[in-house]
Amino acid sequence: MDLASMETCVRTVENQESKAQRETAMTTGQDVRELGLYMSNCCNAEVIFGVSDCFSRCPNCEGLCRWDLEEELISWEQLQEEEVEAA
Ligand SMILES: [Zn+2]
Repeated sequence: MDLASMETCVRTVENQESKAQRETAMTTGQDVRELGLYMSNCCNAEVIFGVSDCFSRCPNCEGLCRWDLEEELISWEQLQEEEVEAA
């Protein structure tokens, strides 16, 4: 396998993962789809966004950036709903 086809392989895997994990681009100005701790791709700055927010610029370099979901957070409303369902 030469270098070029190896690179294609890696790209394909990355594309599949990103399709499964996120349906929409998580970039500055886009709506936040789920509450969580997000990390900016440029500076690894961690910010918590909620569903009523839209992704901000990177707080570190103030540039437009892409955000990766670092950790999903559960809101109090969700917790209460789950408790009701369990009861
Ligand atoms: Zn940045």
